[in-house]
Formats: sequence, structure tokens, C-alpha cells
Amino acid sequence: MRWSLNLGSIAGTAIRIHVTFLLLLVWLGAIFYRQGGPEAAWHGTIFVVLIFVCVLLHELGHVFAARRYGVRTRDITLWPFGGISSMERMPDKPSQELIVAVAGPAVNVAIAAVLILWLGPRFNLEALTEIENPAVSLAVKIAGANIILVVFNMIPAFPMDGGRVLRALLAMRMGNARATQVAATIGQGFAVVFGVLGIFYNPMLIIIAAFIFLAASGEATQAQLRAVAQGTLVSDAMVTTFESLPTSATVADAADALIRTTQTEFPIVDGTGHLRGVLTRAAMIKALKDRGPDTPVLEVMADVPTVHANTKLDVALRALMQRGQPVIGVTDTKDKLVGLLTVENLGEMMMIHSARPETGSEAGPWSNMGR
Ligand SMILES: [Zn+2]
Repeated sequence: MRWSLNLGSIAGTAIRIHVTFLLLLVWLGAIFYRQGGPEAAWHGTIFVVLIFVCVLLHELGHVFAARRYGVRTRDITLWPFGGISSMERMPDKPSQELIVAVAGPAVNVAIAAVLILWLGPRFNLEALTEIENPAVSLAVKIAGANIILVVFNMIPAFPMDGGRVLRALLAMRMGNARATQVAATIGQGFAVVFGVLGIFYNPMLIIIAAFIFLAASGEATQAQLRAVAQGTLVSDAMVTTFESLPTSATVADAADALIRTTQTEFPIVDGTGHLRGVLTRAAMIKALKDRGPDTPVLEVMADVPTVHANTKLDVALRALMQRGQPVIGVTDTKDKLVGLLTVENLGEMMMIHSARPETGSEAGPWSNMGR
């Protein structure tokens, strides 16, 4: 990810920090300094850093729970608004998703519990309402911040952990797609309530509300896509009319093809019909600029995964999303390229699907919906 610094890695997961987070630290430090001099600046900054250590531990809770189910996480990025773990996928079983979702807040519960036990009578709930008061000790503040983290994260709306907990609980009773739909609707209801409260109390809530609302619809779309994909084969969804380039082609040939067709990705196919790689429009333009039109396409193409035409679409979808590629190749039994699967044509499939009447009982590739 651009604009983020690598802090190292824990158990194969890179820990990154976004530069806006460092700016936030400097900005808060300056505010504390103006209010109470260097000591206040120092204390305030340590407090913010410690909170983010708690946020990082929360994310690691998710990451280690997911690892138990064979799901790896490429990186955790700390943003000013919290941490984001880029997991390869969510575990399929609702019970597993439940555990992964709960594991994050559970870490904060544990931190708060340890601090409260250690503080004993020095901890009281009143201290929570004056977290910004310099007379309140750091340990009390950190315990309070962890309680707030748990409460905020358990709001039953995407992208908060509470939204995933709700979806997992619903999915144990109904299909995954239906559960996501219901959970997304409940989350959007919360977003509307936040938005209205924000008008009267705190404009920050309006921003949070908009964020939750968008996240809920994004989550619903993804679940719908997975549901559509479940009963479909790759051969039903792939693009079969496309132009490919020979291994001898140059970037200039590719540029001609780009203008001649509506394609933006070109497969490079050798004499025996095997896919060697794909040249994207971005790579093509970059090669034209940096290396000139005579550059062989073989030198600037990207490796893309291939799937068999009889593969289930949801498996292929996973490959497409995990690699972050715009396209994957589809092959026949002799390993020859017979189609392409792109993010764009999957989007078109979704549009066609949602334009159909909601009977859910018609025959055809989409009849096997998780309803
Ligand atoms: Zn979380």
C-alpha cells in the first residue's frame, strides 16, 4: 500500500503504519503542547501510541484466530481511525467467522480486565468520562480506552466486528447471502440513527454514519456476488470473444490492439494455445513511456493464474480477489486458453442477475442461490 511505512512483521503478517497516522500524532502533540507545555505533549503522545498498540493487538487477535482456520493475512495497516487487516478471505463456516470476529474485541476485554484488576479501587467508572483530564492516571485511561474500543467495535453494523458477529449468528439460521442482506439492512438502520444523532450532537457521527452505510452496501454486494457464484461454473461467466497477442508481439502491436478493440487486458498466447501472461493497459502505457514501442510483450507482461473452465465460479472468484489481478485465464482440458474472467464481466453478471425478477425458483445457472 502506498504512503505507509513498514514496521516489521509478526508471524508472516506485515505491520504497516499509514503516514496520515504519523501526521495525526504530530498534530495531537502540538495541541497538547499548546495546552500544557512539553510534559503534556509527551504524555498525550504516549497515550495515543499506547491506544494504537491496543488497536494493533486487537487486529492480531483477528489474524491469529483466522490462522487457525488456514486464512492468512498479508498485512495490518494502522490508520488514524483504526487498524485494517487484509485477510485473504473470511472463513466459510459461520461458527469460524464468529470466532474470528470476536477474537479482536476479546483482546481489548483482556487488556481492560488486567488493568482494572491491577488498579483495584483506583479504577472507577467516573474516570472514564474524563479521559482528557491530565490528573487521571495513564493506566486508568488505557483501561477506559479499551472499554470504548470494545463497545464501538461491537456495534452490530459493518465494517465493525459486531456486524460480522451478527451476520455469523444469522447465517447459522439462514443462508449466508440472506444473513448478509439482513445484517447489512440492520447496519444501515444504525447508520441512519447515527446520522440523525450527529445532526443534533456531534458532526463526527455523520461521517461515521456515512462510512457505515457505504460499508454495509459493499458487504451486501460481495455476499450477493458469492451467492451468484456458488451455483455457476467459470464457463458460464467467462468472456469468450477476445483478442490475444502472439509471443512475438511488441508493445507497439499491443497499443494497436488496444485502440482497435474495447479490451484493456491482452492475453499473450503461444503457438500451442497456452497462456503465457497478460499485458494490462497500465503496463503497456508504462512500457511505451519507459522502454519504447519495440519492447517485446514477453518482457512486460504479468503472470496471471489460470483456472479450468469446469471450476466452480466461487473458487475462481477467490483466486481473482486473492491475487488482486484484474483478470484470470480460463483453460480447457488440454490447458489451452479458452476464456478470460475479468472483474468487469463479473460486475455485468451481477447486474443481469439483479435485474431478474426475485422468484428464486427459476432454472438456469442462478437457481442455486443461498436463499
Ligand atoms: Zn476488529
